[in-house]
Amino acid sequence: MFGRGVRLGRVLGIEIYVDYSWLIIFILLLWSLSGGFFPNRYPGLSRAVYLVLGGASAVLLFVCVLLHELSHSYIAQRSGIPVPRITLFIFGGVAQISEEPRSAKAEFNIAVAGPVCSLALSVLFWAFSQLRLFSGDVRFVALFEYLAVVNLALVIFNMVPGFPLDGGRILRAYLWDRWGDIKRATYTVSRIGSGFGIVLIVLGGVSVLTGNLIGGIWFIFIGMFLNGAAKSGYRMTVLKDALEGVRVADIMTRRVVTVSPLITLSKLVRDYFYLHIYVSFPVVGEGEEFLGLVSLKSVKDVPQAQWDAKTVGDVMIGASELKTLSPRDEALSALNALMSSEPGRIVVLESGRLVGILSQRDIMTLLAIKTDLGA
Ligand SMILES: [Zn+2]
Repeated sequence: MFGRGVRLGRVLGIEIYVDYSWLIIFILLLWSLSGGFFPNRYPGLSRAVYLVLGGASAVLLFVCVLLHELSHSYIAQRSGIPVPRITLFIFGGVAQISEEPRSAKAEFNIAVAGPVCSLALSVLFWAFSQLRLFSGDVRFVALFEYLAVVNLALVIFNMVPGFPLDGGRILRAYLWDRWGDIKRATYTVSRIGSGFGIVLIVLGGVSVLTGNLIGGIWFIFIGMFLNGAAKSGYRMTVLKDALEGVRVADIMTRRVVTVSPLITLSKLVRDYFYLHIYVSFPVVGEGEEFLGLVSLKSVKDVPQAQWDAKTVGDVMIGASELKTLSPRDEALSALNALMSSEPGRIVVLESGRLVGILSQRDIMTLLAIKTDLGA
């Protein structure tokens, strides 16, 4: 989702990106502000002025969202958590805070920083409008009033106590501190977050039915986004909790069925794929050295007529092209590697020798056992 975008620059050592989806919100804002909000509230200005006001408001709102995310990031960095990137996208901004805060206090500070920044901006713009800066020119008053209102709306929306919104993180920090159990705290605030998402979807549906098409669809999208993010946030916490301190050596399969590079594909299919139900096999040479991996796909790419002539060594994926693991790697980073690897199994090597193999199934089995035992 956050792959495509334009890099804007670097602030506090953080790469700032704008996702292309942000253009949609820019156009929607420009259209609804210059065509509806500003002409209704501040009548008597020219069409060009409304367009400039709409454009300036959309850009400044974008700057305000960026400042909100920078506030989270600044406090995260001060708590020792690196923030490599901030991405602004259709639903606002996301600071990629690289790890979960280590304490409830750090979580609270990081979460509260964003709404505090937005509230300060709201007060500042409200003061600008009241102080009649630029001799009370209605065009500037309109801009400041809009920014005051929209920053206040950001505070209110973000303070809904459902994960992954800031309010949800603040509540999680409080419950985490009280119960001493981050998993239980996350579960509670995730349920609130996904419930809030569903409420937005229902409200959106009602709006669509009563004629407010764009507003309604917008609510439905934000509701779906929040509902999904709340659920995956909880799954991630459970996973991290269960895999904490677990190494690849603890969960890998040690008795690995290997094949020789010299056998033909017919033999491979008959004696290995049909006999053992795996989609890939490590290839090991005479001296037990690891050579590569042969998968069902590498065989399928060869016409069946050639299966007697071609050998495993001809079609295997060489060791240098494969992602491998060490027994000392952490299970959590191994799971990330597994999710992005094609054959679904990764070999574990120790000084060039095959010592085991790890599949998503191994990790899921461990999770199932831990959940059954209530760990
Ligand atoms: Zn925030």
